[in-house]
Amino acid sequence: MARYTGPVCRLCRRFEVKLMLKGERCSTPKCPLEKRNVLPGGHPPARGRNRISDRGLQLREKQKVRFCYGVLERQFRRFFSEAKKGPSTTGDNLLILLERRLDNVLYRLGFADSRAQARQIVRHGHIVVNGRKTDIPSFLVKAGDIVKWRDASKKTEYYKRVAEEIEEKFVPRWLSLDKENMTGRVLNLPGKDDIEAGFNAKAVVEYYSR
Ligand code: SF4
Repeated sequence: MARYTGPVCRLCRRFEVKLMLKGERCSTPKCPLEKRNVLPGGHPPARGRNRISDRGLQLREKQKVRFCYGVLERQFRRFFSEAKKGPSTTGDNLLILLERRLDNVLYRLGFADSRAQARQIVRHGHIVVNGRKTDIPSFLVKAGDIVKWRDASKKTEYYKRVAEEIEEKFVPRWLSLDKENMTGRVLNLPGKDDIEAGFNAKAVVEYYSR
């Protein structure tokens, strides 16, 4: 299945949750979800006879997580298989694996306004992990990894803007950020409490377990 390229706010409205897909705009009153809570097309959320089935709810939850992290279906299934081998519950393991993606780490460090933007930065070769250029957005970081910008990339206008604004960014506790040198460090792997709130990981597991 190809990557979704349509209007992203439509996804948030469909899932009735802020997926934070549009960068800075998501945290402002300009976010359509701040204004109203309707499905794409202007219909109110389904109630009564139109109630969504259990299977539909599981699919919906899976899609919600997948779109939020910007992962293709095939890759998402791979993450799910990997999650089954992890130490915690499969659902938590899945969300932890997604948090460990390099594009997500850039987003969390404040190097990008959205995960989609972070993916572009990684793909264009602007990032080094432990001194090695890494251009794979799905690269999984581990404790102790150092994430920083390539020296050549520091000359770009984008980098300068991010460096100016980095002071205001909040960094989750499993990461640390040296704002002066724009260098991130993975202090430890994200735990259950560090993962994105608002997802029903159990429903995702049920979806794939049938
Ligand atoms: Fe979703 Fe962001 Fe659009 Fe709001 S602005 S609907 S959070 S993508």
